[in-house]
Amino acid sequence: MDITEIPVDGYQKVVRCQDAASGLHAIIAVHDTTLGPALGGMRMLPYAHEEEALHDVLRLSRGMTYKSAVADTGLGGGKSVVIGDPRTKSEALFRAMGRFVDAFGGKYITAQDMNIGNPDLEIVAQETRWVTGLDREKGGSGNPSPYTAYGCVIGIEATLQEAFGSPDCKDRTVLIQGVGAVGGRMAELLKERGARVLVCDLFEERAQELAARFGLECVPDAGHEALECDVYAPCARGATLNDDTIPRLGCKIVAGCANNQLADAHHGAALRDRGILYAPDYVINAGGIINVSMELLPGGYADEPAMKKIEGIRDNLAQVYEIARTEGVPTHEAADLLAERRLEAGRSAQA
Ligand code: NAD
Repeated sequence: MDITEIPVDGYQKVVRCQDAASGLHAIIAVHDTTLGPALGGMRMLPYAHEEEALHDVLRLSRGMTYKSAVADTGLGGGKSVVIGDPRTKSEALFRAMGRFVDAFGGKYITAQDMNIGNPDLEIVAQETRWVTGLDREKGGSGNPSPYTAYGCVIGIEATLQEAFGSPDCKDRTVLIQGVGAVGGRMAELLKERGARVLVCDLFEERAQELAARFGLECVPDAGHEALECDVYAPCARGATLNDDTIPRLGCKIVAGCANNQLADAHHGAALRDRGILYAPDYVINAGGIINVSMELLPGGYADEPAMKKIEGIRDNLAQVYEIARTEGVPTHEAADLLAERRLEAGRSAQA
């Protein structure tokens, strides 16, 4: 196994692993451990070349530092990428990856991400204890999606409070695009809270089935952004807030679970200029990472404290909105400022 460090400014440790025996070619990036060990998922993609994989792992690990800092998980930011076609997965590959993760001695802790499932992580876990998010019966905290959904609903309430002076979802209209693992559960929770819930999905039958089951309204996916509603929750994919959609949005709030909702940073200001309050994606969708972080507590994972901790998203968003209000910046910038201030406080405490 050939392990070589790649020096990158602003990153604590970036390491490449090449293992001829198993065919593993991977990179782990530890961006920052000021607030704790670097937690972040492992993804596997057929990157065209190592440069592309490096770019991805650097971007994602930095994002995890910010996400964990605002979520107050006591963790830093890291990520790992396995370069290869997911169809070529093997036990030897994930065993080697497990040894690679273990070489960080707990400074990097892994979890699921794109194209990596729990069966893969169970193999990784045979070589290292630094694996989170395994199934409950394997000692992990299980599927994060319901926890992400719960956190998003708490976040919608916090955003309603900021926009309208009351967190009450009753009789508010919420439009959800993407009723998969997270969006589907959010729809159910919002309906329970008395909201009028509109749903759409690329797979219309999925939205229709959910609507019939919970008494929601199914709307066409095409052009859904223009529908009038209090809250628009993008829960399908990234970059849906862009030059094309923002002028057509019919909502007063954007608050959903999808990652990287802003196509570009300037779209955060474009939303503000339209008078739309945006709940920064990485703040509102942190329920899953918060849940997983609870595995690392001395007593191990327990559901009730995890739910309580996820409810902290309310206060985290309130702080973001306060910074945005008092310092006159768009909310996505306010979230970054909150993260940077928490990191700075951590650095000062260590000095
Ligand atoms: P999922 O795959 O279970 O659900 C996504 C849903 O969106 C599916 O129903 C799919 O049909 C629909 N969809 C996909 N592309 C679409 C399109 N172009 N137009 C309309 N609908 C489309 O995924 P998920 O786990 O619910 O995650 C949803 C989003 O939230 C993703 O961006 C994910 O990265 C993000 N996220 C998820 C979690 C989690 O815990 N699962 C945590 C943080 C962020």
